[in-house]
Amino acid sequence: MWCNVIFIIIVFIIAFVGFTGYTLAKDNNNSTLDQLSKSEYANKLEQLPQNPNTWEEPVSAMCYDTAAPPDRDQYICPVCGEMTLYSSFFDIGGTDLSKISYYRSLIKKIKKLDVKLDESELCEKCSPNIETRKLYLLIKPKNHKNLIPQRTSDITEEDINLLYEYSEGIKEHSTYYGKFPIINYKDRLEELLGATVKL
Ligand SMILES: [Zn+2]
Repeated sequence: MWCNVIFIIIVFIIAFVGFTGYTLAKDNNNSTLDQLSKSEYANKLEQLPQNPNTWEEPVSAMCYDTAAPPDRDQYICPVCGEMTLYSSFFDIGGTDLSKISYYRSLIKKIKKLDVKLDESELCEKCSPNIETRKLYLLIKPKNHKNLIPQRTSDITEEDINLLYEYSEGIKEHSTYYGKFPIINYKDRLEELLGATVKL
């Protein structure tokens, strides 16, 4: 009798455990499926095009300015405003076009000499039919307006610095390597000034 009761209880326990395990497994499967479908849904959403109202237009070529090609330098004439194109590193007399703006700013420092850059040959409009275009330095003594200005080509940054130092009465010329007596540069100064100098 007790054996039968125990047997029935065991059968119930086995049946209960089995049923619970099946239910749990079923729930787990459902949640896995739910997760799969959610992630698939998210993927599909990502693949859809965005709201057309907020869709950014692709960046298109819109630079139509007059920038010079990579292997060309443009020279804008300060007198007439016309542009002349040069091949990069075109020699305008010991230097290239890239130095012109720097030379202009250096020359502005010189207050006691009538000195300026002569860029006229660099402009095709102002100076057509010129084979060798060069940059020049023009100097005329301040108190001798009627004299023809001294015109020198193949000028350098050092030339302009020398003129500044000479005009200011500075007795030493500053270089990258140190300071040297300005009298060492007498010949070049006379060439630039077109006159003898006393140092
Ligand atoms: Zn010009």
